[in-house]
Amino acid sequence: MRVIMLIDMDYFYVACEELRNKEVGARPTIVGSDPKQGAGRGVVMTCNYAARKFGIHSGMPISMAYRLKPDALYLPLDYEYYESISRRIMGRIEEFADKFEQVSIDEAFIDVSEKIRSYGKAMEYAEEIRRDILESVGIKCSIGIGPNKLIAKMACERSKPNGVMAVGGGEVKSFLLESKIEDLYGIGAKTAERLKKLGYGTVEQLAKADSMVLAENFGAPFGAELKAFASGIDEREVVGNYDIKSISREFTFEKDTKNSQEIKEAIGRLSKEVAKDVEKNQVAFKTITLKLRYFDFSEHLHSRSVKATSSLETVIRTACGLYDDNVEKNKDVRKIGVRVSGLVSYKGQKRFA
Ligand SMILES: [Mg+2]
Repeated sequence: MRVIMLIDMDYFYVACEELRNKEVGARPTIVGSDPKQGAGRGVVMTCNYAARKFGIHSGMPISMAYRLKPDALYLPLDYEYYESISRRIMGRIEEFADKFEQVSIDEAFIDVSEKIRSYGKAMEYAEEIRRDILESVGIKCSIGIGPNKLIAKMACERSKPNGVMAVGGGEVKSFLLESKIEDLYGIGAKTAERLKKLGYGTVEQLAKADSMVLAENFGAPFGAELKAFASGIDEREVVGNYDIKSISREFTFEKDTKNSQEIKEAIGRLSKEVAKDVEKNQVAFKTITLKLRYFDFSEHLHSRSVKATSSLETVIRTACGLYDDNVEKNKDVRKIGVRVSGLVSYKGQKRFA
């Protein structure tokens, strides 16, 4: 039996701001682009629950948020600060894990199957982790527990904010039956709509879907994934940071976009996260890959080789260059990924430039 947890910070950027800014508190607060009195471009990155009450949510154009709540507190993004908090949190989480895998600045999967033998114990353990992070760093999180990554992620979504939810092996089926297809990991509103048109409007229908139809509409790998997920099957391991062959981060836009500024900003953020991992693992890389998945699920990988380096600048410059050279400008982008590979360890050696 596997016991996997997804630990996800609640409204992370705003929570970080709350730590250093007393004004935030109960006041509707939005972290993101400058609203410029309603004329600003860009989006809401995170907002607190006080702001959500006004219908504001992450991914929403900042101008729209401004129309809904002009007197909210608008704060610019400060990634360096958020990353410093993230490093402290991830350090704590790692202590609790048999296997640890950071998935984004504020999210990590852990596998605790070796030390935790029941879901009851897992609930207690999760509360212990939440207490530890809150007491040591001051940030609240939610934790989902399940037999695999898919269920852990979905349980986490269900437990938010500031909660814990466990779905044991025997409960997976009923849990999935009461979930909507858009709750399945990786299925956005658009995919859900397309599935409904194909006659797969519920998780149960999707689990029994015709594999050929899914492959024709979504491509074979994603089609198979959809069907497996709807059946609660997810074999992916929590990948410890050992023996790594590549380091990558992915990001799905709330709304498909062809706005190159928005996309490049996202590439910059992913590159920074990748570079942090590069530094943590004391490696240099020789290849940079940009993944572009478009609205129609076509997916392309574009790579470029460089002289071994661990430089963040190189990741950003190369990934943005790959974007400029390869993007299909008339198609909306759904998801992007930045990956470095061809890793060389420099542990105990001189650093690469
Ligand atoms: Mg979060």
